[in-house]
Amino acid sequence: MARPELVQIPSQPLERYRDLLGEEFPLYEAVAGRAREEFAGRAIWHVNSTAKGGGVAEILRSLLPYVRGVGVDTRWVVPREGPEFFTVTKRLHNHLHEDPGDGGPLGDKERALYEAAVRASAAQLAQLIQPDDIVYLHDPQTAGLIPAVKQTGVRVIWRCHIGVDQPGELARGGWDFLRPYVEAADAYVFSRERYVWEGLEASKVWLMPPSIDAFAPKNQELEPATVEAILGEIGVGAEVGAAPTFVRGDGSPGRVERRAELLQEESLPAAAKLVIQVSRWDRLKDPGGLLDCFAQYIDDSGVHLALIGPTSSAVADDPEGTLVYREVAEGWRRLAEEKRRRAHLVSLPMDDLDENAAMVNALQRRADVVVQKSIAEGFGLTVAEAMWKDKPVVASRVGGIQDQIVSGESGLLIDDPRDLRGFAVGIGGFLTDPALAGRIGQAARQRVKERFLAIGRLREYVELVASLIDGGA
Ligand code: UDP
Repeated sequence: MARPELVQIPSQPLERYRDLLGEEFPLYEAVAGRAREEFAGRAIWHVNSTAKGGGVAEILRSLLPYVRGVGVDTRWVVPREGPEFFTVTKRLHNHLHEDPGDGGPLGDKERALYEAAVRASAAQLAQLIQPDDIVYLHDPQTAGLIPAVKQTGVRVIWRCHIGVDQPGELARGGWDFLRPYVEAADAYVFSRERYVWEGLEASKVWLMPPSIDAFAPKNQELEPATVEAILGEIGVGAEVGAAPTFVRGDGSPGRVERRAELLQEESLPAAAKLVIQVSRWDRLKDPGGLLDCFAQYIDDSGVHLALIGPTSSAVADDPEGTLVYREVAEGWRRLAEEKRRRAHLVSLPMDDLDENAAMVNALQRRADVVVQKSIAEGFGLTVAEAMWKDKPVVASRVGGIQDQIVSGESGLLIDDPRDLRGFAVGIGGFLTDPALAGRIGQAARQRVKERFLAIGRLREYVELVASLIDGGA
């Protein structure tokens, strides 16, 4: 079996946040000092199912460099699983969102397949970890590792990044599938209270929303000319004179060089208003629904729509991506000619993750309105990313999106994710009233600053790990 992938974690100084946090900064320095002292001599291992694509990889990428920067030995490992394993775990993922996914079962056969895969991965992991280490496992793909990892004597945290507002039979079935493994963990982390499974020991539960890093290539400030240059370089916009440059995660200079895979009649005119959604090609993100909304209701000839995702072959743990992209592309081909001219399907290369992030950053900054039309959503990092960039976001009132946007204050929530007209009215409202869009956008940024920056999570992270060390002493 292939060896697990060890993902490089660059080190980032907390110092970067000093100006942004002002007088609160010393608080974080104190937390850092405590972590350095208490965690000395042990490693904290993070294990998840993909190093790129999707929210979990993004969260690890935004938080771990600061953990490393304060002097804590933190590592990130991705077991290599096969396509059959991911078919089962994608089904689990969908069920946990109360969605039937591919319609297949989660029975004895699936359990046997899941257990066989994780058994092999656990054996590999056991060779890497030391008894004093802490192992932090993420999502259903790694839950099966818990009992075996526990047997090596280490403390184990399991973090569930997904959940559903109203669990039904499918979600409960997913919990029951995973429960025998999960119960063995020393602590469980959920993004929000509603996602905590029934029957888990309450004293082991921690709540932590995800977060973004203000200085990562995904969120760093970009000059308008650079934004235009990046859009030109990837082929979405016209070529311009400025250089498509950005600062890489490790602080070195970067330059966008690759083109996106595009389905568009012509490039985005400089004067066009732009509405975007960024997400994996996933039915629960409903890119097809947003295209329908555009087709039926967005008639202003100056408004363009861009549906943006990773190139569909790039995300290892998401086998449905290619299929969903194809469906959306068919929808694009069926659009009336005038609408097709204003719609862009943009698949971004993932070969270089910093470059990919800079592309997403530029597209989010170019947007006038950002949409997240998800049917279900664990958290929805793309929402926080857009809010941080002062954008008015129109999003479904589902899952963790509700924690981010206060509707009417820092964005707009649409009660029914399938209400195409409601989305169109919300989008139109911001496009036709730039003052409102500006006000909401500023409130959005402030909300992210107060609640969803990575540095804020550092404190909770240190508390959680410290509690396990104290508890085990
Ligand atoms: N993303 C990306 N490149 C892409 C498409 C998406 O980096 O081409 C990122 C996006 O910016 C966000 C993450 O993938 O940071 C998606 O996280 P989210 O919580 O929105 O959804 P998930 O994929 O975890 O369901």
